[in-house]
Amino acid sequence: MRFEDLRLTEPLLRAVRTAGYRTPTPIQSQAIPHVLAGRDVLGCAQTGTGKTAAFALPILQRLSDRSLRGTAPAGQIRALILCPTRELAQQIHDSFRTYGQHTGVRQTVVYGGVNQNPQARALRAGVDVLVATPGRLLDLMGQRLVSLAGVEILVLDEADRMLDMGFLPDIRRILAQVPAQRQTLLFAATMPDAIRKLANDILCHPVSVQVARVSAPAETVAHWVYHVEQPEKPTLLTRLLARTPRARALVFTRTKHGADKLTRHLLRAGVRAAALHGNKSQGARTRALAEFRSAQTPVLVATDIAARGLDVDDIAQVFNYDLTPDPETYVHRIGRTGRAGASGTAVSFCSAQERANLRGIERLLRAALQTVAVPRGDSQQRRGMSA
Ligand code: AMP
Repeated sequence: MRFEDLRLTEPLLRAVRTAGYRTPTPIQSQAIPHVLAGRDVLGCAQTGTGKTAAFALPILQRLSDRSLRGTAPAGQIRALILCPTRELAQQIHDSFRTYGQHTGVRQTVVYGGVNQNPQARALRAGVDVLVATPGRLLDLMGQRLVSLAGVEILVLDEADRMLDMGFLPDIRRILAQVPAQRQTLLFAATMPDAIRKLANDILCHPVSVQVARVSAPAETVAHWVYHVEQPEKPTLLTRLLARTPRARALVFTRTKHGADKLTRHLLRAGVRAAALHGNKSQGARTRALAEFRSAQTPVLVATDIAARGLDVDDIAQVFNYDLTPDPETYVHRIGRTGRAGASGTAVSFCSAQERANLRGIERLLRAALQTVAVPRGDSQQRRGMSA
């Protein structure tokens, strides 16, 4: 497939050629025709797959095509892209600028943490495409510096991460100001229930497009598995952590409740630990992360989604306290250790109920995890505790 086959107009093809792209990526060849046709899209794709161009190119084309809605009042924002972080907002904005350089479509970006005056000035000058993080957008809306009444296309990018960062109420407030009759595109790297529900609420007969993740765990990671029953897991973890008290460890649990419960157990056992999950306030999350980074709190107990945005490199050990049924998630979890050639250990706790999960992971890795015997004291101590 070539970009020419996607029915993109010459100004866009020219920009794509200048960018040096030869062929569309899978998400681009799948999504672009649907977006051009005006369909709602639910896209499952990570950053790095070319997903920005997958929505930016057809949006630019639709906005350049005056027949889309010739009645849009002048000075109104026509496409709104919401995303979780300022870095991503800036990246998306840069992409729109690159791809739209020959189209005359005007664009700007707004995000928090910087002076709002230049952003307000850019908005007053008139923009067609606005890339925004939810918090700053609401601020500007509150000051009547932005109106969303003319929005024809809405994109939620990295929607799973936005939800995980606690942006759902903000997103709902923004959605309430966007015309119901619009085209909506929702992209997420993972599709937890909360995303499916949001997609159900805001997308209209969407087309689903999906691209597989590339999974290649670092070769410097040792994969160990302890066969241990669920009630014995807290004690085993406490013992293993005690062997390397200063090393940073990331512990994955399946649920937020499980993360809280385990964190309480660790704290009672004298391990400096904190929980990181979507129910925590932004302040609590930022604090937990900062303390983890500085190794003040060397153990972080997290749910998968919460750990996604985590940018901490030298994590010595990753514990799969609950063994995930999704092998891709396993690879994602252990991607936190053994980075940049450093050695790391991925330790999994596998209960009898989780054996099938283990088989799935071993199939994907094309290797068996190395079984390690549970230290004898653990089960004895556990029996002693429950007696
Ligand atoms: P994204 O997933 O949108 O963050 O894009 C990841 C990177 O791939 C960006 O640096 C893009 O410039 C680049 N890219 C996007 N589409 C293509 C393509 N069709 N061919 C080559 N590179 C691309």
